[in-house]
Amino acid sequence: MAVFSNKSVLVLGGSRGIGAAIVRRFAAEDASVVFSYAGSRESAEQLANETGTKSVMADSADREAVIDLVRNAGPLDVLVVNAGVALFGDARELESDDIDRLFSININAPYHAAVEAARLMPEGGRIIVIGSVNGDRMPMAGGAAYAVSKSALQGLARGLARDFGPQGITVNIVQPGPVDTDMNPAEGPMKELMHSFMAIKRHGRPEEVAGMVTWLAGPEASFVTGAMHTIDGGFGA
Ligand code: NDP
Repeated sequence: MAVFSNKSVLVLGGSRGIGAAIVRRFAAEDASVVFSYAGSRESAEQLANETGTKSVMADSADREAVIDLVRNAGPLDVLVVNAGVALFGDARELESDDIDRLFSININAPYHAAVEAARLMPEGGRIIVIGSVNGDRMPMAGGAAYAVSKSALQGLARGLARDFGPQGITVNIVQPGPVDTDMNPAEGPMKELMHSFMAIKRHGRPEEVAGMVTWLAGPEASFVTGAMHTIDGGFGA
């Protein structure tokens, strides 16, 4: 039997990019997968049809929507919080409301989703949040808010790992470097600069990140918790 047969997996932000690769990978491994989306209804419906998964519209900026989504999904074996937004620009010029929205999606939603999931999660449950190597290293100006949000996830993992450890639930952060998605296209204007920081001078593929996520969600990772798992082509080396 496949490792994830009969396992219930919820992916927050699964309609595109890394999240879609995670949905595809769990579906291919026979899990029962529900994923959320906010703006990309068409992509979400297409992915759900292709993979036999279920898509649900739920804006991660809305705390109650996130909590309801997790609660309505029932007892989860695996929660993956992938939904995230990036906002770059001079900190003195960015709109405060936009920064607060980023914090809501990138910090508040993972926290509330993780806590809600842990209320019903069985022993052996897995909580995995997609952070960023920018939680460790922000080598460019203009990314402070994004870096704050991804560093905050490190505290989330360390703290909640201790809260949920006695229940046999692990909490981990996956920290990608540049990955080829709509958020960070491999042929985008920042390509040369980003690759200059890396040991492996290319963007990662969403499937490479999905591979790390499924390993953390599987039985081989039962002793791994409260930890950051960087997959960045050496961006932070
Ligand atoms: P994309 O912008 O390509 O995709 C983002 C996904 O998150 C989409 O499915 C989107 O759904 C969903 N999402 C965004 N905002 C919301 C929201 N408010 N509510 C629900 N879902 C939402 O990004 P990536 O795939 O590149 O990024 C995925 C994660 O990986 C993010 O957390 C990002 O910070 C992180 N990351 C990405 C890196 C990269 O280089 N690409 C590097 C390091 C980390 P929809 O379109 O339906 O709103």
